[in-house]
Amino acid sequence: MEDFYQKCAEHGLKITPQRRIIYEELMRAKDHPTADAIYKRVRRKLPNISFDTVYRTLHLFSEIGIAKLVEGYGEDRRFEPNLDQHHHFRCLKCHAIYDFHCDSYDELPLPEVVRKYGLVVGKRVVLEGICLKCRK
Ligand SMILES: [Zn+2]
Ligand SMILES: [Zn+2]
Repeated sequence: MEDFYQKCAEHGLKITPQRRIIYEELMRAKDHPTADAIYKRVRRKLPNISFDTVYRTLHLFSEIGIAKLVEGYGEDRRFEPNLDQHHHFRCLKCHAIYDFHCDSYDELPLPEVVRKYGLVVGKRVVLEGICLKCRK
């Protein structure tokens, strides 16, 4: 939560109860939820909140660096609160995304060829497959 207060202050963002509750829901989420999923969870506490507010707030959070947008796959954009270096296992069937850590992936050298596209500021390995639940 401290991160939240600090980043909001840094960016001159007012801390409203709505923003705090949206952030708390995102922090609790382990499933890389869409804005719609967060909206449904937040609505239990704030029945009058609009989808638009939740959507805009989540994007605001990613702009000021307290949340991350997960790489897209033509589905609704998904968010995550986990800012630590980590990698993803993504199920092709149910679209669940699992976080994992791997030192050797963290240390993967950058291919020379990438230089011509620009400056690399992040690195994530995405493994795709069928999760255990879907294999059953
Ligand atoms: Zn699955
Ligand atoms: Zn993740």
